[in-house]
Amino acid sequence: MEEEQALILIVDDNEMNRDILARRLKRQGYETVMAENGVVALEMVRQHPFDLMLLDIMMPEMNGFQVLEHLKANAEWRDIPVIVISAADDMDSIVRCVELGAEDYLPKPYNTLLLKARIGASLEKKRLRDAEKAHLVEMAVMQGIDRELSATLDVKRAMEITLGWALRHSGDEVGFMGEVEDGRIHVLISKGYAYELTADSSMLIPDELPAVQQALESRKAAFRSQTTGTGLLARAQSQIAVPVCRGNDVLAMIVMENSVPKQWSAQVLTFLNRLGDHAAMAIANAQLYTAVQAADLAKTEFVSFVSHELKIPMTSIKGYADLLLTGSFGAVNEMQTKFLGTIRANVDRMARLVSDLTDISRIESGHLLLEMNPVSLAEVVEDVVQSTRAQIEAKMQTLTLEVADDLPLVYGDRTRLIQVVTNLVSNAYKYTPEQGHIAIRAKVVMVADEEGERQMVQMAVADTGLGIPEEAQPTIFEKFTRVDDEEARKSPGTGLGLSITKSLVELHNGRIWFVSQYRQGTTFYFTVPVA
Ligand code: ADP
Repeated sequence: MEEEQALILIVDDNEMNRDILARRLKRQGYETVMAENGVVALEMVRQHPFDLMLLDIMMPEMNGFQVLEHLKANAEWRDIPVIVISAADDMDSIVRCVELGAEDYLPKPYNTLLLKARIGASLEKKRLRDAEKAHLVEMAVMQGIDRELSATLDVKRAMEITLGWALRHSGDEVGFMGEVEDGRIHVLISKGYAYELTADSSMLIPDELPAVQQALESRKAAFRSQTTGTGLLARAQSQIAVPVCRGNDVLAMIVMENSVPKQWSAQVLTFLNRLGDHAAMAIANAQLYTAVQAADLAKTEFVSFVSHELKIPMTSIKGYADLLLTGSFGAVNEMQTKFLGTIRANVDRMARLVSDLTDISRIESGHLLLEMNPVSLAEVVEDVVQSTRAQIEAKMQTLTLEVADDLPLVYGDRTRLIQVVTNLVSNAYKYTPEQGHIAIRAKVVMVADEEGERQMVQMAVADTGLGIPEEAQPTIFEKFTRVDDEEARKSPGTGLGLSITKSLVELHNGRIWFVSQYRQGTTFYFTVPVA
């Protein structure tokens, strides 16, 4: 509200008073409207957005007190400042008016300077109040926008939200938004155009769009009106471009157009610039997230490629070592047999490492898919015992099984469940000294969580081994974690096994945990849902 443009309502039943006042105010640059009593005054208030009311008290039909009561009872009118005009000796009436909410009073007859000062002060106060109110409204709107934006990590969705708010607030006809790359706009979202912008002109060169060019240079919203032939809208006559900046970089651009010439108010420009600032964070986050996902995928593909390439020579090395061990190609002496055994064992270790790395990479990029079926855990345990028996016997350890005959089937990926149990059993024999004991147990338990009560099979792999020191326990499931324990370090390992095991159990909607006592033993537990 500019002072010169303020609209003032003069309410007085005396025509001469009204005219004198109106003329004075006009000379001071105000616009005025007049009303001869309270009823007419309220009718005028209904019709015009007044910045100030000058109100006489004694009037027929409806007096000044009643007008004040009506104004203050209405939420829309409550903030129109009222200056009461009254004879200076009628102090009681003035006091009553102030109590009813009048902002100030003017004694009759007026002193021109005092009139000017009081009106100026009231209008300034209203201007500040209006600005504060507008600021609060804008803050609430921005909070809403932030809430919407922070809920997405998708660049297109963030732009859809931003463009939607921009169009709603500016009232422009059509608009589009895109990422800015190497000085070009890669259009990702458009609204209101008759044809699919993103397909036709996905890379725009801003040279042809003067408002965009200017916004790119000034890093602020810029517009052009009465432009013909520019813009993407047929017969575009006005265009505004709002840059979305992060630091010195222009990340994206909002462009809106109209088929008529148009000027954008300072308020709308401020809103759009602020919207650009708020969108910047969400768009930058979404762009980063997309880049991270792409990098993750590239890493998974690279690891898959490398592990595939490594498997071929490893199979060959192992095959030839096995062939030599058969003795079909010449006698193999004791020392050579031992060396060939070492070659085999190391190739096996390498194969495990390569497959662990592939698993980790797939788990991290969300590309590890399970083949879910009803699975017998009793059979899984049998498989694991078969494949680990030799190592357990080599350390003269004993193994007991406590698996109920009527154990229900679980819902899972058989191969991956074998991998989980194998990992736990091999840790058990690796980290248990010779002649120790290992037990594998399985039973049905009821588990209550936010999804309700469910039947799960709970497996336990217990050993009487080295135990995990208390300080190492919180990080044991993190990848590449190896406990700082001299005894444990004697067994080779990578620290990947438990991290993969935990992810696999969780992919089955199960849970894994352990109880361990240093130099006494460790029991790992995990659950899998019943099929
Ligand atoms: P790795 O065995 O290849 O080192 P894991 O992720 O399987 O990797 O295990 C991480 C660490 O946890 C091991 O290095 C070991 O110190 C400790 N650990 C795992 N299982 C046991 C166990 N049953 N008893 C004692 N320590 C264990």
